Amino acid sequence: MSWSQTRVAGDLSDQMTLLVGGAVRLLCGEAGVFVVSNEAFDPQSSEEYTVYRLNEATLPTFFASIAGGVQPNSVHLLVAEKLSPAVAASVLLRDDEENGRSELRDVERCSLFVHDAAGMLGVLHYLRPAGVHSCFEQVDESKDTNGTSGVLRLFVVQLAAGLRAALQSQSLVKEQGRLASIFQHSTEGILTVDNALRIIDFNPAMERLTAWRESEVLGRFYYDVLRPRDRLGNEVGLQGSPILQAFAGQQVINREMVIAARDGQRFTVSVTASCVRSARGEPMNGILTVRDITREREQEEQRSTFISVISHELQTPIAIIKGYASTLARTDAMLEAEALRIRLTAIEEEADRLNKLVGNLLYASRIQSGGLQMETAPLEIGSLIETVVRRLQARSPVVTVTLDIPANLPTVMADRDRIEEVLQNLLDNAIKYSPRQRTISVACRATGDEVITSVSDAGMGIALREQQHIFDRFQRIQNTATRTIPGAGLGLYICRAIVEAHGGHIQVESTLHEGSTFSFSLPREEKAQLPMVVF
Ligand code: ADP
Repeated sequence: MSWSQTRVAGDLSDQMTLLVGGAVRLLCGEAGVFVVSNEAFDPQSSEEYTVYRLNEATLPTFFASIAGGVQPNSVHLLVAEKLSPAVAASVLLRDDEENGRSELRDVERCSLFVHDAAGMLGVLHYLRPAGVHSCFEQVDESKDTNGTSGVLRLFVVQLAAGLRAALQSQSLVKEQGRLASIFQHSTEGILTVDNALRIIDFNPAMERLTAWRESEVLGRFYYDVLRPRDRLGNEVGLQGSPILQAFAGQQVINREMVIAARDGQRFTVSVTASCVRSARGEPMNGILTVRDITREREQEEQRSTFISVISHELQTPIAIIKGYASTLARTDAMLEAEALRIRLTAIEEEADRLNKLVGNLLYASRIQSGGLQMETAPLEIGSLIETVVRRLQARSPVVTVTLDIPANLPTVMADRDRIEEVLQNLLDNAIKYSPRQRTISVACRATGDEVITSVSDAGMGIALREQQHIFDRFQRIQNTATRTIPGAGLGLYICRAIVEAHGGHIQVESTLHEGSTFSFSLPREEKAQLPMVVF
């Protein structure tokens, strides 16, 4: 007789199939299903295990007949009842066809309650030809009050022990699957080591974090791979390494450390280490979870930079305004008209500076929340540049601005007010950061798709390593030359947001102590109208 299996719910282990199949066969059954009791198992994990040698299509009928039957709520060991001819026909039809027989046999449905000292395990329902009895029922022994023989009871005890072991091993397999899935999909890096600190697992998050592949690090000493250091970047040595400390019984929870990626680049992480011990308390495995906190640290740094920059930027004009205001308020102050005018102008300028700072802060927060709206229209950028430069020279006559704007420069598609702000910011910076050199040049040129505007100065210039940061919020270059120059590190951040909202780019080319050129591009009007250009 050959047995096949189907899965009713969840996974069916081979062990379970063999046990149920063997039991049904010993009970002279033709087909059977084991229903796990909810009493014995968590309802969520309650499953049905089926062993049958019938056409799979007949199973629904079989289950329907069982569903209306007895429930596992008594301790009767064996219940037998005759199936209706219709159900019997559907269940045994294929069998009969295979054997070339057309007549239907009488079939009984039997239910065997399987329990042990720990309680009910479930019910084994099976079908057997009517009138056939298994060896357990034929043994003529003393029967208990339920009419059950001692041999059958023994059989049930054995079956229960086997089924319980099978179910337990199955839940272990599931548990393992769940853990494996957590390990695979965790956003935190996880590595495990054996008792000799050799890596035995390295999850995908760990691969992303360190750029090492699991296959490259398995079996390697974990300390060599991560080269952990303390938060200040000092070597911690093997004894101070998190897993060894966990092995030694110390608590390592969310410790800030610095680890190395494959290319040697170091980054700040928060690590938690734990130890799995044998029954005798010896360390067997170490588990290390690693969370990249570089971004959090950067944000903290940004917050503190923000506070120091803003408080400095607010204090200076407030102090100037207060100083002049108290001089003017003194009753004994007999100022001449010119002296009075100078002081009032200074107060006005400082108030403007405060106003601009608050405006920039609001602007920056709008950019961050994605609320920057552009109202674009065809714009002749050449004439806008001339207007802005004229105004600048009226304000600062010592500054010389040379213009290089081709006569037939194509129009761009842009928000006039915003582009004016970009030009103003770049020109202000060119003056601010060129304390000795007072010549600035502004040039425009057209490419096939864009118009590029450049503002050049011959000022203090920017070191290469600083150039990538100056477009970020609150980023200022801190050195002796810039310390006394006012600024909140927002101008270029705002310029970049505006230019990029137009679909353009802004960049800097600079040589320290020689000067800088800031260039930004805007789409030409006719190109901007193409459907693929999105504003
Ligand atoms: P700030 O208000 O500090 O000027 P920006 O965002 O406009 O803020 O500029 C950021 C930093 O870039 C400045 O603090 C300065 O160090 C540097 N920078 C900007 N423009 C120039 C320039 N033309 N020459 C040299 N350094 C510049």
